[in-house]
Amino acid sequence: MQTFQYSKADTVDKALAGAATGRFIAGGTTLVDLMKLDVEQPKTLVDINPLPLVKIEKLPDGGLRIGAMVRNSDLAWDTEVQKSYAVLSQALLSGASPQLRNMATTGGNLMQRTRCVYFREPTAGTPGGYGCNKRAPGTGCAAMDGYHRMHAVLGTSDQCIATHPSDMCVAMAALEAVVQVEGPNGQRTIAIADFHKLPGDTPHIENALEPGELITHVDLPKLPEGAHSAYLKLRDRASYEFALASAAVVVKVEGGRIRYIRVAMGGVGTKPWRSHEAEAALEGKESIESNFRAAAEAALAEAKTRPGNAFKVELAKRCVVRALKTVTA
Ligand SMILES: Cc1cc2nc3c(=O)[nH]c(=O)nc-3n(C[C@H](O)[C@H](O)[C@H](O)COP(=O)(O)OP(=O)(O)OC[C@H]3O[C@@H](n4cnc5c(N)ncnc54)[C@H](O)[C@@H]3O)c2cc1C
Ligand code: SF4
Repeated sequence: MQTFQYSKADTVDKALAGAATGRFIAGGTTLVDLMKLDVEQPKTLVDINPLPLVKIEKLPDGGLRIGAMVRNSDLAWDTEVQKSYAVLSQALLSGASPQLRNMATTGGNLMQRTRCVYFREPTAGTPGGYGCNKRAPGTGCAAMDGYHRMHAVLGTSDQCIATHPSDMCVAMAALEAVVQVEGPNGQRTIAIADFHKLPGDTPHIENALEPGELITHVDLPKLPEGAHSAYLKLRDRASYEFALASAAVVVKVEGGRIRYIRVAMGGVGTKPWRSHEAEAALEGKESIESNFRAAAEAALAEAKTRPGNAFKVELAKRCVVRALKTVTA
């Protein structure tokens, strides 16, 4: 049983003041689980549910601004998101369950942590427990020679191979979202590509937020006229399951050739995985399956596998090809 102090903030200033010594809680669908498992032990919880960050607004340049407290369900069913950013709506609806999506927020989804089974063991990283460099640096990585079927094949290090679990963030990577944050030192923006960190030698550092910083909004740039997007998620069962592999694609085809292309993958990377290699292989090329396959090969060329997750390489390639075929059909 953990004890903690609880307060509610109805303004950003109050939230920032309260967070100096504690953590924010939004939908609670990740943080409460992690507290019950003793993975996280915040001394203070600042409930940010009353914050007025619940709007989805058009930006003057045609982009979209999403408040950090917008629930995943509301974002997925928003008319403008469905029309102009289908990849995001589809990614959100492929995640978790309706009940969870009704609680989960945009900010909380960006901050969700890996589902690595060792990471979530209450005693991981302690003497006698499983080694987990993410929980306790220097204690090893039980997944390397243990159960790693769900683990990453891209962006791994010899310290950690944990997969980033979010679907929403993969769509946001393909959409080149920009995260707006506010903290003790003022406001700043972080490109989604820089928001999540590779594990390297510091797998316990997962994102670019400084202590006490609050995500206030996520901005989506306007897509080029005529671009279409889609999200495909492959998993062990049809719902309520994390991705084995997923692909978010944004494509514009003119005269049979690809004129704009963004590709990101989920389920295979230690962070939401934008594939510049796949994009370079497709830019200006004919919109045909053999080119999609070449792009998928490029996307997975640097994959590093363990015996239990080697199947993901071919699965992810087929996922990218099928997503591209669907969106260009
Ligand atoms: C059973 C189950 C299945 C799931 N399946 C999927 C799935 O298939 N795909 C998928 O993508 N996700 C899945 N999820 C994860 C789910 O999407 C996340 O739990 C949810 O998005 C987290 O949002 P939240 O608002 O509840 O976050 P919280 O639990 O409230 O917070 C999570 C973290 O974010 C921080 N935080 C929250 N808001 C802010 C903010 N504005 N600024 C700074 N920090 C903030 C908190 O301090 C905390 O560290 C699943 C979860 C569960 C429990
Ligand atoms: S993969 Fe990462 S999170 Fe999982 S046990 Fe290894 S160090 Fe911990």
